[in-house]
Amino acid sequence: MTSTLSSLACAASCGAAPFDPDRVQHLCTTCGMPLLAQYDLAAAARTWDRSSLLERPRTMWRLQEVLPPGGDGGPVSLGEGWTPLVHARRLGAAVGLDRLYIKDESANPTNSFKARGLSAAVTVARRLGAETISVPSAGNAANALAAYSARAGLAARVFMPRDVKSPFVRECELYGADVTLVDGLITDAGRIAAEIGAAQGWYDVSTLKEPYRVEGKKTMAYEVAEQLGWEWPDWMIYPTGGGTGIVGMWKACAELEALGWMPAGAPRPRMVSVQAEGCAPIVRAFRAGADRAEPWEGARTDADGLRVPRAIGDFLILRALRESGGTAVAVSDDAMVAAMREIGAAEGISAAPEGGATLVALRALLTRGTIAPSDRVVLFNTGGALKYLDLLDAPS
Ligand SMILES: *Cc1c(COP(=O)(O)O)cnc(C)c1O
Repeated sequence: MTSTLSSLACAASCGAAPFDPDRVQHLCTTCGMPLLAQYDLAAAARTWDRSSLLERPRTMWRLQEVLPPGGDGGPVSLGEGWTPLVHARRLGAAVGLDRLYIKDESANPTNSFKARGLSAAVTVARRLGAETISVPSAGNAANALAAYSARAGLAARVFMPRDVKSPFVRECELYGADVTLVDGLITDAGRIAAEIGAAQGWYDVSTLKEPYRVEGKKTMAYEVAEQLGWEWPDWMIYPTGGGTGIVGMWKACAELEALGWMPAGAPRPRMVSVQAEGCAPIVRAFRAGADRAEPWEGARTDADGLRVPRAIGDFLILRALRESGGTAVAVSDDAMVAAMREIGAAEGISAAPEGGATLVALRALLTRGTIAPSDRVVLFNTGGALKYLDLLDAPS
């Protein structure tokens, strides 16, 4: 079991020649847009059978052929991935859907799906000789970077908005990371991290400014296909900030067809981006039929992972929504918090507000008739509730 990674390609197809994955490469040097990893899927398809997965370790690294290589040290792993896909029968009955599933990403190390992306990114950073890794974050990415850097024996520098909830700061400190709090939003944190880091030679793992967090997150789609007996759901509802997850999972759909594991030409899942009413640049751009999203002014939401006013991969998110026949929905913070309680009480699942947002969006799409009661739907609970307990202090 070895990686079949072959090159890095410009996601904007600007015409730049493919980049060598054995060298540090963050963005396309011709146009400044994100890079996406390419694999020799034809070679992998010849020797790799999906049934082999059953015998492999139950982490995302059982998909090593379609993940980057770790070199001599192997993957930097804490057991991320292969999270439960829960058939949510009680919640399904409440919304009028027999086949409702929740992909429970709170089961990951550091309590969110950011573990997948950072496990992949830190694995590559270590292989390519990085010593200090930096990230701007709304919270969960910082926790995951801190944990995986500690695991790899590397230094972590994280930059978060000053108003970030304290559990995110404490957990970074627990893993020995150096924390800087920044006035403003994640985009401001990103600017300051880049300014300081460039001079220091830090290895930056900002969302989509580094090619491998997408690779880690795409494994969610491989797992959903496998957990549903190698069938796609009709819908995947995903809380979208920087877009790594949705971009990665749409990429995975094509890879699974190239591997011959999922039938080419059969309908793929329709992708739904959920954002907060107080920060919904992708929803606005989707409705306007635009290819890129204008930055959102005055971004406000308690769902920290969704407080991303501008995403460098906006065009990739919008493309995934349109190509899949999906849509984009904005929901209120109050409804998200009510949905956290509803998911918890109905299914025993600890949901972050971002996870709650997917249930709110599902209800809206059922009401509109976009989703039919006979459809099979997967909600992504991208993180657990414990770092957001302040939101639950008020009586319901
Ligand atoms: C980061 C984050 C998101 C947004 O994820 P993207 O893949 O960057 O769009 C959603 N939910 C939670 C809990 C997050 O931490």
